[in-house]
Amino acid sequence: MVPVSQLQFARKYPFSSIAKTAVRQLVPSLDAIDQPILDAAIQLVEVCASTSPKTRRAYVERHFSQRDLSYPEFLSRDVSLFPVTKIILSFLHNPTLNERFAGLMGDLTFEYLVNEKDRVSIWLDVARDLNVKADILVENNVQKLVISLPQYLAFPLQDGQLHLVNQSVRHGNIVLEENLACRWLAEGVHHSILQSLPVDTRGFPAFLRESAMQAQSRINVIRVSETQSLSSGIILSAFPPCMVKLYGEITSGVNLPHMARFDLATFLINVPMPHEDIVNVFSKASNYDERITRYHLDNLSGRSSGKKYSMPACIKVREHGLCISRTCNVTHPLQFYRRESEKPSETSNDSPTVDEKK
Ligand code: SF4
Repeated sequence: MVPVSQLQFARKYPFSSIAKTAVRQLVPSLDAIDQPILDAAIQLVEVCASTSPKTRRAYVERHFSQRDLSYPEFLSRDVSLFPVTKIILSFLHNPTLNERFAGLMGDLTFEYLVNEKDRVSIWLDVARDLNVKADILVENNVQKLVISLPQYLAFPLQDGQLHLVNQSVRHGNIVLEENLACRWLAEGVHHSILQSLPVDTRGFPAFLRESAMQAQSRINVIRVSETQSLSSGIILSAFPPCMVKLYGEITSGVNLPHMARFDLATFLINVPMPHEDIVNVFSKASNYDERITRYHLDNLSGRSSGKKYSMPACIKVREHGLCISRTCNVTHPLQFYRRESEKPSETSNDSPTVDEKK
């Protein structure tokens, strides 16, 4: 019987040595993997198959919202989910899915780490599992983490805030405040999980391959539905995470603050979404006033002023407190949209690829 506290830790950090020990007890052999775990693993693969960052963000938020649940069955299933999902992904041989899964685990790690009460101590525990050595430095009563430069650069850093030019380098070490240290460790988790995929599935029971084929069928359905774009030709699934969040909030009736409205409006204007469709988006806010909305949109789009406003770059969106992703790998939200909307359909790549040789 694995103690609940250990299961809760393992659920948050499923790649950790504590989680591996727990899984060995919960699932002593592959034949012990039951249907609820397989179903959950297929659902997780579906989350990774979605091209919309919103879907993965929702997964992180739901996972985090269940952090205090202590039912052993629920925890055991979630802890076992990580290795079983890796097996399913390994049968599918799809690097895009692997990358999204690793990124999702990095995002989960960040979400949990920054919210830990004993953040530095847990950070050090998680870092140890990744073979990271770090020291604690206390400056002005603030704890910081010190990592050697070679170690800091040991894996690719996709988060712009982690670029070396933005860091404090002292005597060959990087000194990170806690939030940045959590971002960096999340990148380490992302990289480490990506490196661990695919696992060797030779000799694995047939039911695991069948589950992978089920997952592939579901992925094909997702691809078909995602090729349907808005009537105006705007592809919602290509929106960057920051705009997905704002778009989702305003269309759910949330009253966005001024800068959030500005960023969203200029994004939609420059995508470009038809003017009346943008008015329609803003009409969903509960404090909607058509006259004021049209006045501002006419101004921002240049209809009334003759000057069309540009969409702010990521650095500005970040200053507005609206950047929510570490891994977009762009400097401008419109760059993200163009990159994602120009990607060819993944349908051909996602045709069944279960390796029959293995
Ligand atoms: S990196 Fe840029 S595009 Fe991505 S969420 Fe942040 S502001 Fe938006």
